[in-house]
Amino acid sequence: MNGIVVVGAGQAGFQLGASLREGVYGGPVTLVGEEPGLPYGRPPLSKAYMLGKTDAAGLALRPEAYFAEHRLTVRATERAVAIDRAARRLHLASGEALPYDHLVLATGARNRPLPVPGADLPGVHQLRTLAEAEALKAALAEARSVAVVGAGFIGLEFAAVCAQTGLPVTVIEGLERPLARSVSPGMAGLIEASHRRAGTRFLFGSAVSALVGDDRVRAVALSDGREVEADLVLVGIGVLPNHDLAASAGLRIENGIAADAMLATEDPAISAVGDCASFPSPHAEGARVRIESVQNAVDGARCVAARLTGRPAAFTAVPWFWSDQGPLKLQIAGLCQPHDRAVRRGDPAAGGVSVFCYRGERLAGVESLNRPADHMIARRLIQAGRSPTPDEAADPGFDLKALAL
Ligand code: FAD
Repeated sequence: MNGIVVVGAGQAGFQLGASLREGVYGGPVTLVGEEPGLPYGRPPLSKAYMLGKTDAAGLALRPEAYFAEHRLTVRATERAVAIDRAARRLHLASGEALPYDHLVLATGARNRPLPVPGADLPGVHQLRTLAEAEALKAALAEARSVAVVGAGFIGLEFAAVCAQTGLPVTVIEGLERPLARSVSPGMAGLIEASHRRAGTRFLFGSAVSALVGDDRVRAVALSDGREVEADLVLVGIGVLPNHDLAASAGLRIENGIAADAMLATEDPAISAVGDCASFPSPHAEGARVRIESVQNAVDGARCVAARLTGRPAAFTAVPWFWSDQGPLKLQIAGLCQPHDRAVRRGDPAAGGVSVFCYRGERLAGVESLNRPADHMIARRLIQAGRSPTPDEAADPGFDLKALAL
C-alpha cells in the first residue's frame, strides 16, 4: 500500500490528514510542504500575530506530538515538482519520487505580484506565509508611515493593525470602494467609515505606477502624478491559485484546479481542495467557484477524506468567512456575490448590522458586522435552504431563529 500523499501542508492539507485518521484510514499519509515547520494557521498573521498577541508557536494547528500519534508524516521544505499520473508517483525537487494510491492537491495560493517598477525594493512586503509575516512585523516596529496597496481583507486587516499601533496609514485602491468584489456596497461603506474614524486614509480609483526609492522604498507613485510617502508598503492585491503542478500533469484548470462536486479531478486518483481548487457549488446555483477561506479548506478536506474512507458525498457545506479589523468583526455566511437585492437588519449606530443578500427570492448570503448571532442563524438558514422574505429579514421583530430551527 502506497497510501495517500498530499501536496501542501497548510490548512487543507493538515485537515485532510486529520480527517483521514478520524475516518479510520490506516494506510500511510504523507504531507509534502515547501514551507518549513509544521502546519500553521494563516489568519492570525494579519491580526493577533502582527499585534504581538500570539507568537509562531501559537499558530501551530497541532503540537508536534499529534503528528507522531496519528502517523501523519510531514515532509517540510520539500517542493513537489511533477506528477507522473501513469505511474502514480509524485516527484520532489530533491529528486525523490513518492508513490501514491491517491494524491490530494492542497497547494493553496500565492500572492499576486504588483507589476510596477520598484516592487522589489526593501520596505515593500506581501503577506501570505509566516516568513513574510515575520519580516513585515519587524519592519512595522521600525516604520514611520505605511501605505497599503489594495483594500482587500489582508490590506484592511493590516491597516487596522497600523491604526491600532498609532502609525499613519494610507490605503490605495484602484476601485471606488474597499472589498469591492467581496461585500455589498452598503457593508463596504460601513467598514470604510470605521477605518476612517480610526485615522486610516483612503485613496480610491488610484492606480499605482511605481514604488519609489533608492536603496529602500520612500513613496508610492500614482498614475495621476501624486506620491504617497511611506517607508513601509504592504502589497495586498489578491492571490493566484497554485495550479502549475496540476496543469503540467495535464489536469484541467478553470480558475484553479478544476474539481467536480465531490472535489475529485478528472483523474480518479487525484483530488483537489482549498484555495487552489474550483468546484461547482450548490450555494452558487451550481456555478463553479474558488473560495479562499479556512472553512472552505477545512470542510473541503473533510469531504475528500470522507470519500477516501468510503463515504462519498458532494461538497455542500455552507461557505462562511470572517475578518477581524480593529473593532470590527465581519462574518459572511453563504455566497453573497452577485446579489440583486440587499436589506439591512440592525443598526450600525447601535453596535451591529447584518446585510441579507438575495438572488431572486433566495437568501444567498448574509454579511454580519459585530452581530455574531445573526451569522450563526444565517448559516443554519442557508444550510436548511430557508429564506426569510426581505421584509422579514429587515424586521427586527421577526424571529429569524425560529425560522432556522
Ligand atoms: P495554504 O494554507 O496556503 O497551504 C498551501 C500550502 O501548500 C502552502 O504551505 C504552500 O507553500 C504549499 N505548496 C504549494 N505548492 C507546493 C508544492 N509544489 N510543493 C510543496 N508544497 C507546496 N481565511 C479566513 O477564513 N478568515 C481569515 O480571517 C483569514 N485570514 C487570513 C490572513 C492571512 C494573512 C492569509 C494569508 C490568509 C487568511 N485567510 C483567512 C485565508 C486562509 O488562510 C486560506 O484560505 C487557507 O489557508 C487555505 O488553505 P490551503 O490549505 O488551501 O492553502
